[in-house]
Amino acid sequence: MLSTPTQLLRLSQGQLNLLEACPRKFQHTYLEQLNSPSNPEQEERQTLGSRFHLLMQQREMGLPIDSFLQADAKLQSWMLAFADTAPEILTPASDNQTFRESEHYRTLQVQDYLLTVVYDLLIADNQQAQILDWKTYPKPPNKRKLESNWQTRLYLYVLAETSDYLPENISMTYWFVQSEGKPQNIKFNYNTAQHTQIAKKLNHLLSQLTIWLENYQNNQQFPQVVEGSKTCDYCQFAKRCDAYDGKLRTQATEEVVKDSLPNFDSIQEVSLNPIL
Ligand code: SF4
Repeated sequence: MLSTPTQLLRLSQGQLNLLEACPRKFQHTYLEQLNSPSNPEQEERQTLGSRFHLLMQQREMGLPIDSFLQADAKLQSWMLAFADTAPEILTPASDNQTFRESEHYRTLQVQDYLLTVVYDLLIADNQQAQILDWKTYPKPPNKRKLESNWQTRLYLYVLAETSDYLPENISMTYWFVQSEGKPQNIKFNYNTAQHTQIAKKLNHLLSQLTIWLENYQNNQQFPQVVEGSKTCDYCQFAKRCDAYDGKLRTQATEEVVKDSLPNFDSIQEVSLNPIL
């Protein structure tokens, strides 16, 4: 029997967050790539954040990092503070029974989507697995918000689904290296009840996405959040959506549909041959 390849759409935690916050925003951002350019301050922060991640990766691989640290006082102070606060994370266990890998990449197929995660550091032994994530923005956000962020949910979910670890033996810890005083962390333990709940939410969200994508190909836009929603207050697409005026919003909607062709380029497609 001949098999036809299934086209999977690759999705990350950031895309799930956006989809959940406002499907229309997801459409503008990923299908139409209408993002506004980031400001220089934002760019500088992002560059510094990427450099810290790279440094941590190089360190984990045993590559020299001193010259980078000497060239950048901020990176150096973050690294020193982190080494001082959490030496156990930077020092590999000497038992050879522990698996450690930075930028650890995993994928999981759910429906027609390939969910991808990249753990800044994964430390696992025969008892438990810890996912670690470095954050270089100054203040740890509210713990509850962070718990409901798709990064936390998806990262824990994918590891439980793609390994032999029970959810109860998996955790995820965010390290905020730039916190005032010294680096702070927020840790999330996982359990089977949470895992079941996340599976349900994820499947529901992805089923909705499938319907919205089909509708979009028939020139129907993704849904907006309810009018007057706070999400619109800070959204760069507020004008386009005309979120402050219901009547005009309808007109704007029609114009955008005429001009935009479905564009799935920004969501990578992956071909998978079904197993016979
Ligand atoms: S303005 Fe509101 S409805 Fe429009 S994309 Fe932004 S959040 Fe969604």
